[in-house]
Amino acid sequence: MLNIKEIPVGNVFSKTSFKGYSYVVNPYTGCASGCLYCHACFIKQFTNHEDEEWGEFIDIKRWDGVVRTNRAVQGRNILMSTVTDPYNPVEKEYKNTRRILERLHEISCNLTVCTRSDLVLRDIDILKDMNAKVSISINSLNENFVSGLENSTPIANRFEALKKLHDEGIYTILCVSPIFPYITNFKEITEKAKDYVDEYWFENLNLRQPYKNKVLNFIRTCYPEYAAEYDKIYLNKDREYWFFLKHEIMQYCKKNKLTYKMDFRHN
Ligand code: SF4
Repeated sequence: MLNIKEIPVGNVFSKTSFKGYSYVVNPYTGCASGCLYCHACFIKQFTNHEDEEWGEFIDIKRWDGVVRTNRAVQGRNILMSTVTDPYNPVEKEYKNTRRILERLHEISCNLTVCTRSDLVLRDIDILKDMNAKVSISINSLNENFVSGLENSTPIANRFEALKKLHDEGIYTILCVSPIFPYITNFKEITEKAKDYVDEYWFENLNLRQPYKNKVLNFIRTCYPEYAAEYDKIYLNKDREYWFFLKHEIMQYCKKNKLTYKMDFRHN
């Protein structure tokens, strides 16, 4: 059961230290996709949601402050979003993301949209006009694996969305994220999309509390054959797997002349 509330906010943009971006914009607090591995669940403690499960609440932000916002973000690189999915399931009804796009469309800025959903196709018209970039995240071709972790768009639809965006002339980014050790096959994912992706991002699975134990339990239950390796990586903090994978991805991208970025973090 999703707990939905509308909350007034002063602004939806925040300054960021994300490399290459000046501002991030998050249309919602919380995310109805509720991915088991989501790092953004830390915001529960700052938004009066401490006692709720991630994925079971969402605040629909209501704001004005248009003029102030426009002045601040004009001409800047903006990332949408970092602690919610702008096209998570409630966007279909509440259209906060669409509203923000319409505002941003009126000014000049460089927007990159990050999502796991094919609902982004609804906004092709405006994204195209804005010359926005769109990143779609995929970390496996196995629908069962993905549906065990996320309440989001089936993988086949995400590939179709990337193709459609590309066919419409929109710059596409395939974000291979999060990379699950021994499960995510980055080569088969990149290979499948190579004809309609302009850039690749690679992010490792970085586990922090409180979701670390949930993900490790998921692995123990559904992929017991990898449990010992996950313990080695996430409990004993053995970085060898990531060291070799990083090297392999770099070699692969160079060999295939792919434009890419890598963001591997370890806690
Ligand atoms: S879609 Fe993104 S923001 Fe939403 S729960 Fe999943 S990882 Fe977190």
